[in-house]
Amino acid sequence: RVVVVGSTNADLLARVAAHPAPGETILGERLDVLPGGKGANQAVAAARLGSPTALVGAVGDDAFAEPALAGLREAGVDLSALAVRTGRTGVALVSVSADGENSIVVIPGVNATVDADAVRAHHDVIGRAAVVVLQGEIPRAGIEEAARAARGRLVVNLAPVIDVDTEVLLAADPLVVNEHEAALVAHALGAADGSGNGAAAPAAEDGSDEAVVTALLARGVPSVVMTLGARGALVGAGDLLEQVPTPRVDAVDTTGAGDAFVGALAHGLAGGDDLVTAARLAARVGAYAVRSVGAQSSYPGLGDELPEVTA
Ligand code: ADP
Repeated sequence: RVVVVGSTNADLLARVAAHPAPGETILGERLDVLPGGKGANQAVAAARLGSPTALVGAVGDDAFAEPALAGLREAGVDLSALAVRTGRTGVALVSVSADGENSIVVIPGVNATVDADAVRAHHDVIGRAAVVVLQGEIPRAGIEEAARAARGRLVVNLAPVIDVDTEVLLAADPLVVNEHEAALVAHALGAADGSGNGAAAPAAEDGSDEAVVTALLARGVPSVVMTLGARGALVGAGDLLEQVPTPRVDAVDTTGAGDAFVGALAHGLAGGDDLVTAARLAARVGAYAVRSVGAQSSYPGLGDELPEVTA
């Protein structure tokens, strides 16, 4: 099964005509309280596609815990390794302007307690998983401990990019990053190499997507999936470098599309798909998710028809 170790948030989403300037007060149009957090989003995406999925993480003992958990419960995600701690549930304050631009403040709350000790308490759950999924919204010590505990395939979505032990990146099969994150990780690994064994890894000199993926592989990342928005994704592993297309859709809201992609990728890999096949499915699920508003609420279930890639 799939085990996600990561964040759970309540997203407080305000619609505004235009974002307020510093010091300004404006009236918003409406407020939605939606389940979010990268870890929870990815777990919901995998579970809705039919993978038995568990989430290792934490919510607080406040009023935001239940809205944060609503989507996980509905999708049937196993929450027995999700702690309820004294303190605040993670919250994202999101304002979306009429032109669709987001401005977001994330308060991690008790996601910050998902550290090495908290993860160690669930070593057996993590160790038994076919696929373990990590992101950058919990403390680095929690991520590192989860990577050590994993015996199955490790999917590392280093979003946001935070400092983690190089061992985590060298165990990532695949590392899933968008273009911006890929460049940051390549840079970080390059710096690590420079002070280390002096390996002559090629720098991503021309800055192309292919060059960045190739540089990550050369620095020892087992496999890489770079997501490219409406351009799909680029998959690299060993000598293989393959562009995976995404269906052409009318994008309404790209919130959580990357998480839908990662959850679907984990689902495919847990089912025995090879990386390119899993990435093709993930791209279609990502495209499905941008067609409607919200993160988890826009993810497909088993009966839903995914958009097709057309020539
Ligand atoms: P992130 O939000 O993490 O930056 P991306 O924007 O790369 O991630 O989106 C993740 C995946 O979702 C893409 O690889 C693609 O499959 C799908 N996707 C995102 N935006 C679009 C779009 N406008 N049209 C079609 N598919 C999209």
